[in-house]
Amino acid sequence: MSNLSPVSIKTFTASDYKSDLKPIWCPGCGDFGVLTAVTRALASIGRPPHEIAFISGIGCSSRIPGYTTAYGFNSVHGRSLPIAQGIKLANPELLVLVASGDGDGFSIGGGHLAHVVRRNIDLTYIVMDNQIYGLTKGQLSPTSPKGLKTASSNQGSLEEPVNPLLYMLAYGAGFVAQGTPADMNGLTKLVEEGIRYPGFAFINIQSPCITYGQAETQLKVQKDKIRNLTDMGHDATDRLKAMGLAQDYGTVIHNGVFYRNPTPPQSYGDKVKDRHAALQATARPRQEILKMFTPSLG
Ligand code: SF4
Repeated sequence: MSNLSPVSIKTFTASDYKSDLKPIWCPGCGDFGVLTAVTRALASIGRPPHEIAFISGIGCSSRIPGYTTAYGFNSVHGRSLPIAQGIKLANPELLVLVASGDGDGFSIGGGHLAHVVRRNIDLTYIVMDNQIYGLTKGQLSPTSPKGLKTASSNQGSLEEPVNPLLYMLAYGAGFVAQGTPADMNGLTKLVEEGIRYPGFAFINIQSPCITYGQAETQLKVQKDKIRNLTDMGHDATDRLKAMGLAQDYGTVIHNGVFYRNPTPPQSYGDKVKDRHAALQATARPRQEILKMFTPSLG
């Protein structure tokens, strides 16, 4: 969030970031908690809604931009990240949030992850991971556990699940965290920290699908599986230790910041700005170029 100076003198509350649109998520869906955490985090940051763009792909979770007062784009399946990158580079002053589900983000959108990370675009990527396709009525998703019986795997899945935390750490993301609506204060803090991180930030949220999700992913069950990384004394500046903990994905829910780069590298947007300034400094004056092609002017 390198360029996010709080210029407004107005104080915002979470309700300033909630639109009048009533969410059509199933009652009890974890995504309600994510919406609350995002709006509370935005209120803490205090940027006015018109300075925020919220981009999503397709899926239940991708409805979230419409429930906020930020500029929103419920875009194309799996393509939220490239669209968000374009928006951020075209208007670097915007605070850009991106939302996906596990299907949208890690299946059709999986190929974009490595590239947004290596470019280090200053975005906050929030994935509502429920290990199932909810919108299309309960098929296997990339994070579904092996053996899971679903509408599309009635004999049990034969596939190993994707580990989103390990992927992002291995790609080199500067901020990697995991939260859950079972810990609303913790989740709000994580979203705020992700937004404030000056570069690409990834937050995996264990947001249960109450309609099609497995019993083990529901909030009541989650509470027994949560391990707070701060309470464990985890050093969030140690990427290798974070990768070790990330291997527990699917068994326990590590809650908190896995990794935060203590010396964040320059974001792609800032590099572009520097390159532009350098080119301008060495550019020949327009009049000089005109003379090269029309000597009569000289
Ligand atoms: Fe949420 Fe699942 Fe309902 Fe979709 S189907 S709104 S993910 S509970």
